[in-house]
Amino acid sequence: MAGELFEKKLLEFTRRGNIERVRWLENINKYILPSHVKRILRNDKTVLQELVLPKWVTWDLLYDWALTQKKEKGRLCVLCDEYSEVGIEYNNKFICEYCFLKLKNLK
Ligand SMILES: [Zn+2]
Repeated sequence: MAGELFEKKLLEFTRRGNIERVRWLENINKYILPSHVKRILRNDKTVLQELVLPKWVTWDLLYDWALTQKKEKGRLCVLCDEYSEVGIEYNNKFICEYCFLKLKNLK
């Protein structure tokens, strides 16, 4: 479920008294902009080059958090940048049905 890993980490760091990490997680949306969130949701790992993240922040954790930021239903299409509930997975990236059909017709 979206946000589960994030909550788990937050709890873990709180229990351990790791205030620095707890603060970072609580303020994560100050470090990661909405445009970054979109790229994370597209599984675009080049975004990591633009973000300054603590070493303990994993991609899975970022992705899990990004899912909680999404208000629209479905997944983000890598081609049209829109959310869609139907589509296909290609190389770990999501392509919506509309773009997929468009691509198919080009061939
Ligand atoms: Zn699309």
